[in-house]
Parts: sequence; C-alpha cells; structure tokens
Amino acid sequence: MQPMNTTKDNVLKLTNALYFEVDEETYIYHGLSGVITEFDSVSAKVLNTFQQNKTFTRPEIIQQLEGVVDQKTIQQVIDEFIQMEIISENHVKGIHSQTPGIPIGEQWPVQTLVFHLINECNLSCTYCYAGGGDYGKPMKSMAMETAEGAIDFLIKESKDRPNLSVVLFGGEPTMNWSLLKRIVSYGKEATEKANKTIDFSMTTNGTLLNEERIKFLAMNNVGVTISMDGPEEWQDKFRISNNGTGSYEIVHKNAKKLIEMRPSKPVAVRVTVNKGFPSVKDLFYHFMEIGFHEVGFAPVSATDEAFVLNSPELWRLLDDFEQLTEDFVREAIQDRYLGFSNLVNIIVELHSGVNKGFGCGAGLGFMAVSPSGDLFLCHRFNEQQEYKMGDIFNGINRDFQKELLGSLHVDNKTTCSSCALKHTCSGGCYYEALEQMGEITSPNLHYCEWQHRWYKIGLNAYVRIMKENPTFIDRMIGLTPICHTS
Ligand code: SF4
Ligand code: SF4
Repeated sequence: MQPMNTTKDNVLKLTNALYFEVDEETYIYHGLSGVITEFDSVSAKVLNTFQQNKTFTRPEIIQQLEGVVDQKTIQQVIDEFIQMEIISENHVKGIHSQTPGIPIGEQWPVQTLVFHLINECNLSCTYCYAGGGDYGKPMKSMAMETAEGAIDFLIKESKDRPNLSVVLFGGEPTMNWSLLKRIVSYGKEATEKANKTIDFSMTTNGTLLNEERIKFLAMNNVGVTISMDGPEEWQDKFRISNNGTGSYEIVHKNAKKLIEMRPSKPVAVRVTVNKGFPSVKDLFYHFMEIGFHEVGFAPVSATDEAFVLNSPELWRLLDDFEQLTEDFVREAIQDRYLGFSNLVNIIVELHSGVNKGFGCGAGLGFMAVSPSGDLFLCHRFNEQQEYKMGDIFNGINRDFQKELLGSLHVDNKTTCSSCALKHTCSGGCYYEALEQMGEITSPNLHYCEWQHRWYKIGLNAYVRIMKENPTFIDRMIGLTPICHTS
C-alpha cells in the first residue's frame, strides 16, 4: 500500500516517539499508534534527523543526508515509516494514531462502581489520604436501601453492557460486614434478573478478616487486595490502630489464612511506598513468601514532607523496579509468572496497544458512590463536592460530566501533545495532579521523566519476552486481573 500523497513538498514529521535499546539494538516506540519496531542503522540515520520535532520536506531530508544515505533508500524508509504512522505527512494522523474523543452522552455506560460502605477505618495510617477513613466528613455508614439503590443504578446505567464490577471500599469495608454481604447477594440476584454478570473485588486493611468472612469471600468469588506496607518493623511504623499499636501480626495471620483457604483465586497486596522505604525486591519477596500472587507498589500520595518521596528516592524506586523487572523477564522466559503488578500493567498496555484519551476511566465508565448515595469522580474524590457527578437517586449530572471530562481530556493538555505516552499515560491521575500540581486539569508534569524511564524499562522487558517466549504474554493476559483502583 502506498501513502496517499507523496509529493515532494509535503511536510514530514516524526512525533511522539520513544527510543530504547534491547541487546544493544535500537528500537522505537511510537506512542500514538503503539507501534514498536527495531530499526537498522539506515533507518536510525533517517529518524535521528527528525528528532527534536523537526519537520522536513522530502528534498530537505534528502539534502540533509546527502553522502550518508542514498536517495532511493531514504524514500523507501520514509514511505515505510509513513505507512507505520511513525512519520506523519502534512500533519495528518493515520487511523491508529488518532486520539479517542470524549464519548459522553446519555448512552455512555457506567460499568464499575466503587462502594464506600463506610467512611470510617479501624486503623489510623499516618499518611492516609482519606483523613483516617472519614474523608473529613462526619462518620457515615451506607444504608441497606442506598446500597440496593446503587446496584439498581449500576444495572440501569450500564445500558447494554453485560458485565459489571463492584469494588467494595471504605474507609474499611469490613467494618460494615452485614452490608457487604447484602451488596453481594443483592448484586447477584439483581444482575441475574437483568441478564448481566457482576464481579466483586475488595480493598481491605485485612485486620477484620476471620474464618467465616474468608469463607464468604471465597464462596462468592470476591477478589481481595490487602493493603500492607512491608515486614513487621516497617508496617508497624505507619499502619497503626487507633490506639497506636501495630497491625502487622494480625494482618499477616489473616492474609495467610485467606491465601490458604482460596488457593484458586489470586490474592493481591498493595504497598504504599513511604520515605526511607526498604528495597522493593526485599518487599516483593517478603510478600511472595507469605503467599500473595500479585504485589503492586504506589508512592504515597500525601503531600506531607514526612512521608512523601523526594526526587532521589523516586529514582531509587525506579532502580528497584528495574531490578525486579530483570527477575520478571528471567522467569517469563522460563515460562513462569512473577506477580509484579506495576510491570504487568505496562506489558498488558503495550501488548493490547492501549489508546486512551483520558488518564483513567474515572467519571466515565467508573465512578464512586458515597455512603449517602452521592456519585463522585472516583474513590479518591469521595465527599469532595466540587467533583460530585450526581447521585444514584436522580442520576448522573450529564452537563457537569461533559464539562469536567472535557477539561480533563488529554487534547486539552498541551504539554502532552508531543509526548510518546500521550495515549498511555494520557496526562495521568487527576487526584495526583490536584495534589502535586494544584489543578485537577493539569498534566502530571512532576513525573514525566520518571514515567518515560519506567516505560523504557517496560518496553525493554516486553521486547525481550516477545523474542524469547512469544506466547507467554497472551497466556499471561488470560490469567492476570488488572486492579481498577489505586
Ligand atoms: S503527563 Fe507527562 S508523561 Fe504523561 S502524557 Fe503528559 S507529558 Fe507525557
Ligand atoms: S487514576 Fe487517579 S483519578 Fe483515576 S481512578 Fe485512580 S485515583 Fe482516581
């Protein structure tokens, strides 16, 4: 297939490209189309000339490379890269390079709802973004009628989508156990009547699990993520009960019981990474020894200097991620899976060629419902009235949704327009933007460099696995659940 228009005066431009190396060979990742390709020394010479967002016409690039690459080869390389959409011609984006627009309207479905069963927590984690679980509001538990109404709302607003998800969240969701059980039973009955399916997942601090509760979770196939920070001396520094005692012993005991009682269902742990953190590899293998299947790490989002990672610590975190990535690749080549969720998420994105116009699904297919039935952009914005999207009784405020999401779309973040991660990071998390940049609509510019290096590590791992064990990732995607919430 020939490019549509190849006249000599057309403007050629290389955009949104990330270079990385594998075994001393150079590769390019074109972030708009998702194309990953190795290139030889001739292509490298052509593409390097385009770097720094320069534009050329064909005669200009031929002149630029005169004596280095012959004219016919340059033409062939350019045609090939236009076809792959790595180079644009006259600023026209190919079909795979277009950014998805804003799919908002009465028909846009909600498929996942995060239930804040209770705005209260039995722990007082020192860095908690939710103000100790109460989100700065008087403590409130969700009532039975509200929970049932929220399930009905989800069924109705999911429109023609057949598969629904409920995330059981808090505060600490197990503090409202009878409601949790009711949500699961009512959710199953109501979705069955509506000819849909529903799955449940829960994020918990793990302190209030017991045998009867674990049985219930296993019988109802509820996915569980436990929040834990590390070995005893580290966990007990931050994740403390309201009377100041540490939580490691009880969480460790309950986690082991949960893992033993449901061997066929993966149990994940989510680690909040704080200032002065131990080695990520040590943390990871500590959790593997307990028996967890998946371990995900997230830097603390508190702005408090006492907890937040400074720049050298963020780079140390990445060095640690890189080391763990080596273990992941080694195991994958041997056809074994290592549950390092952060890397798995990137590999899944690269493999499926994700193309997003928004940093995440918050406010679109994904919302949070507060104990009183109010709908918020996501769980992190629970009880923040500026980000209220409506309520389950009167429905979604579509005008506000349109206005807010319009302002959050990556096309409104000019610094993201030429970024290689425009369709994967897409400006990043809105809550982080608010915390770190002071504006929910801001791109997360504080972490671009970090993200780029992390993606290069992920790309390197992806290419090596695809070369050595090409079917591994397809099989892994079939097995690995990707957690909706952070
Ligand atoms: S926030 Fe930074 S890394 Fe993310 S898409 Fe925008 S420019 Fe790229
Ligand atoms: S990425 Fe950020 S804005 Fe999106 S759902 Fe997660 S916390 Fe909310």
